[in-house]
Amino acid sequence: MKVMIVGSGGREHAIAYCVAKNDKVTEMYCLPGNAGIAEYAQCVPIGAMEFAKIIDFAKEKEIDLCIVGMDDPLVGGLVDELEAVGVRTFGPRKNAAILEGSKAFSKDLMKKYNIPTAGYENFTDPEAALAYLETAKFPIVLKADGLALGKGVLICQNLEEAKAGVQTIMMDKKFGDAGNEMVIEEFMTGREVSVLSFVDGKTIRTMTSAQDHKRAGDGDTGLNTGGMGTFSPSPFYTKEVEEFCEKYVYQATVDAMRAEGREFKGIIFFGLMLTDEGVKVLEYNARFGDPEAQVCLPRMKNDLIDVIEACIDGTLDQVELEFEDNAAVCVVLASAGYPLDYEKGLEITGLDEFDKHEGYYCFHAGTAFKDGKLVTNGGRVLGITAKGKDLKEARANAYKATEWAKFDNKYMRTDIGKAIDEA
Ligand code: ATP
Repeated sequence: MKVMIVGSGGREHAIAYCVAKNDKVTEMYCLPGNAGIAEYAQCVPIGAMEFAKIIDFAKEKEIDLCIVGMDDPLVGGLVDELEAVGVRTFGPRKNAAILEGSKAFSKDLMKKYNIPTAGYENFTDPEAALAYLETAKFPIVLKADGLALGKGVLICQNLEEAKAGVQTIMMDKKFGDAGNEMVIEEFMTGREVSVLSFVDGKTIRTMTSAQDHKRAGDGDTGLNTGGMGTFSPSPFYTKEVEEFCEKYVYQATVDAMRAEGREFKGIIFFGLMLTDEGVKVLEYNARFGDPEAQVCLPRMKNDLIDVIEACIDGTLDQVELEFEDNAAVCVVLASAGYPLDYEKGLEITGLDEFDKHEGYYCFHAGTAFKDGKLVTNGGRVLGITAKGKDLKEARANAYKATEWAKFDNKYMRTDIGKAIDEA
């Protein structure tokens, strides 16, 4: 089987690691990939949004299965285009990827189908948004409707900040067309839990839970990032929370999408908040989380290709997901300055240590080869994942392994998984 993965981050590295374990796989390509993925796959310098080139490549290589890891190509309709030329592809079609691609759509869906979420209003007219804010309660949350690299969400403490937010999103168009529409949402407090799931259009199978750390600095301070680390499972995702979500969130979302004529096949990522009033859905994503994939996939016992094929074929009801009875923690090693300015091209050493230890993984995000050397090539550079019998052991192992990887200006949060101590 010839497999092609679209994407270039730690998430795609974790996917490639799982795909490589399947004996049926004879060739693997990653577009564009990175230096770590190159261990398993031939990396091809085609960007994830270069649809015409991706399609030509898939046809030329007679790809049997394509896995789209990233949000932009999913929302842009890459799955539809690949399917149109007969390439079996894993991921939602454009009309279903809107679940992530439009926050206004997802909020309306939740409202229509009684899926618990924060109160909100959608706006296409900035004047109407400004008028609404005059009588609103603060803090309040403003969200650009479309994809904005996780940066299109503004938590505003007062009217002044909120007015500036409307200006930024809708008038200055800081996030481009993503700001053509905006959601104004009630501010909630509570712990966040991520639950990823496989969906075949009708059936949903949830994976183990995880928790991300989005802010750049310790103690959840500093700027929002793509994610600085994660742990799995979340001790706050109790049986009770799980049962609630099974009853009111997971299947309800899949059924709602079907009822809307937008059958969803692929990964649904549920961003949940455990509020005092109960569980609420913060957001949906239509793909694996990054870095959630780096802690969930290494703990999954099932063969990833088998599960993906069941999603495509609509036979997920015959699959039971199994996860190891342990824990995993991922600490992201970034280049100092991320998410703003940082240097690239710094040599990385010490990674051979990971081959000597079982249960330790070094997933590459922003890396490349230059003059035969492994170098940094992005803000988030590596995701260091370790397993342990429990979360505390996994955390200690992950931090120990962060010392193996060496490069100048290495930066990481020192408190990934600190919440575990409060569980
Ligand atoms: P990403 O793509 O990085 O997952 P996003 O742009 O899709 O992010 P959300 O996940 O909707 O945005 O929001 C980002 C973060 O903002 C959440 O993880 C949460 O911490 C905070 N947030 C969002 N909505 C609310 C809310 N209603 N109340 C309080 N905090 C919120």
